[in-house]
Formats: sequence, structure tokens, C-alpha cells
Amino acid sequence: MKINLEIKTRIAEKKASEIIGNFGIYHPDHIRLLDIAFALGVQIKEGPLHGASARLIRIGNHAIIRLPNTETNEPRKRFSIAHELGHFVLDHEVISLGIVCTAQDMMNWYAMDRETEANYFASELLMPETLVKKRCDVKEVSFDPVKKIATDFQTSLTSAAIRFVKFCPEPCALICSEDSKIKWFVKSSEWWPFIRKGQKLDKRTLAIEYFVGQRIPDEGQDIKADAWLDEPRIREVFEHSIALGQYGLVLTLLWIS
Ligand SMILES: [Zn+2]
Repeated sequence: MKINLEIKTRIAEKKASEIIGNFGIYHPDHIRLLDIAFALGVQIKEGPLHGASARLIRIGNHAIIRLPNTETNEPRKRFSIAHELGHFVLDHEVISLGIVCTAQDMMNWYAMDRETEANYFASELLMPETLVKKRCDVKEVSFDPVKKIATDFQTSLTSAAIRFVKFCPEPCALICSEDSKIKWFVKSSEWWPFIRKGQKLDKRTLAIEYFVGQRIPDEGQDIKADAWLDEPRIREVFEHSIALGQYGLVLTLLWIS
């Protein structure tokens, strides 16, 4: 079952990639979501929308995406639009008032359900592989190139970090923690050590600082590998962590340098 859903996320990326190809996009500034939505028969409207990040209302072959008029963060808006376009293009079933998506849905990179599919669609639409891959070929892994991608492509740090790890040729992994535990992770093709979902964060990690009310250092550092990994062949691992305060999450990049 899970394998089928992983295939579905790849199909979602492929659909987004086809749209990028059809629009002849070769620069981040060309990813004009309103134009793409219009061409797909989707209108974007802003208005009151309580407790949700976006809503998709389908009317035959057309649809309306409604965004809350209280949202002022442009990257979040773009991600919400791309996510809803994903539900539309992937023909996700709409019941009664449409698909209502929350901030948690936009951060759902792990359940492998239709929200995850919409997120993978959005990440390829906003950061097409053809434009983003070469930016992930770096000598030093940290959030610096990730932030640059997020800024240049006007998208969220989390989605940029997932793309970065996917295309980075170095052995690195992105871990998301909540309540001092590993919630989910993604890894590059060169990463081999086992990461355990649900594992409690060691007090030697930088990520734990956020959960004990301390400030995570801005810069990454080498730490004892066994603080994160059960892999005796590695002595040290580079960790760079960033708190996503509004979600109560910490994102960590680990790199075996
Ligand atoms: Zn959704």
C-alpha cells in the first residue's frame, strides 16, 4: 500500500513537471502561479477563511481556490496555491464544500496520503527539478543554499529543504522533530545510516535546544554521531538545525562530511 502511495507522489511530481514543460519555464521568475492557474481553468480569490490555509471548490472542469485574506506571507500563499492546484490536477475527490486544507496539511510530507501528494506536486511546480537540481550540488551542506532556494523560488524553507536533500549528491538527511522526537525525515541517495522515526532527541543534539527553551546556534557544527545515529563507523556528523517556531517544529540537516 505504502509503495503505491510513493508511486503516487512521483506521479504528482511528473504532472507538475509536465506543466512546467508546457509553459516553457526556464527561470524561477517565470513560475507565475496566477497565469498557470488561469490556463488550467482555476481562479484564485482571497476572502475570509477561518482555520484553513486554502480551499478548493471544483465546478466541472474549473475550480476556485480561496485563500484567507489574512495571509500576508507571499511564499506561504504561493505554496497554498500550488498545493490546491495539485488537488485539482490530480483529480482529488471534492466533497460538499470543497477540499479544505490547513497549515498542517501544507506540512504533511510523511503521511503519504493525498495531502502529501499535493505537497510533492507543489514542490515540483514551485521548484522544478530542471531549475533547482544544480543548486543542490554544493561542497558544504547547510541551510544556506536551502535559504537561497527558498528566497529565489519564493517558497517555504521546509519544501526547499526537501528538494535540496533529494538532489544533493552528498550523504545528507533532513529530519523534522516535534515534542523532542523525530517526526519524519527524508534522505539523499548517498545517505545510508538508519534513522528511527519516533526516536527521542539526545541532549547532545543542537535540535533539542529549542525543546528545552534554549536558542539553537545559528551555525551548524560537528557533533558526536551517536547523538543522532546508531552507526559505529561514523564518529562525527555535521548538524545544522533551525526552529520553525510557528509550527513547534525543528528542521535539522545532518551531513556526513
Ligand atoms: Zn490539501
